[in-house]
Amino acid sequence: RFPEPAARPGRSRLVVLAGPTAVGKGTVAAHIQQHHPEMLLSVSATTRPPRPGEEHGVHYFFVDDAEFDRMIAAGELLEHATVHNRFRYGTPREPIARALEEGRSVLLEIDLQGARQVRAADPSAMLVFLLPPSWDELVTRLIGRGTEGPEERARRLRTAKRELAAQSEFDHRVVNADVATAAREVVALVQAPSTP
Ligand code: 5GP
Repeated sequence: RFPEPAARPGRSRLVVLAGPTAVGKGTVAAHIQQHHPEMLLSVSATTRPPRPGEEHGVHYFFVDDAEFDRMIAAGELLEHATVHNRFRYGTPREPIARALEEGRSVLLEIDLQGARQVRAADPSAMLVFLLPPSWDELVTRLIGRGTEGPEERARRLRTAKRELAAQSEFDHRVVNADVATAAREVVALVQAPSTP
């Protein structure tokens, strides 16, 4: 289990940043990390193969199914889920517990299923939902990113519809019209005094 909030020095918080595909979660998270290196951006394990430019241990820990199964069995993952009905993703528990003990807040960039599991594991976790300015803008961003073919894009847009419908489960909603502004809003939420 995680250190109870009372045992965490300062106001370290576990923060989940979720939201539909292509909304810019990764860009906002990277922006936050650049300006707030005192916060830990959690690196997930995944069975998805790396995309060009992605590095093991930086963007993800790229593992095979056997290793992912081992991590689950060993209790090494705080949460894990199959995303877009395809690859498995999970959050390593240990680095998070250590950072919280050190008084550092931790940012998790994960999907809705993961957000729900984190909430169950740590009711004091803060759930932030990142929204696109509009549905059309989301579709434009996904196409513009050019990393998925038409079939994968359709799959991700179906997931996005489901995720948008669940936004009321989150503590806060932030619209990502501009990366720097959205990042500042998330940081302000993390740094705000916690409500009991
Ligand atoms: P991508 O393959 O584009 O890097 O990520 C696909 C989806 O997986 C994104 O929605 C991302 O938030 C989600 N994801 C990444 N890491 C994790 C994780 O550790 N746990 C869960 N539940 N979802 C994750």
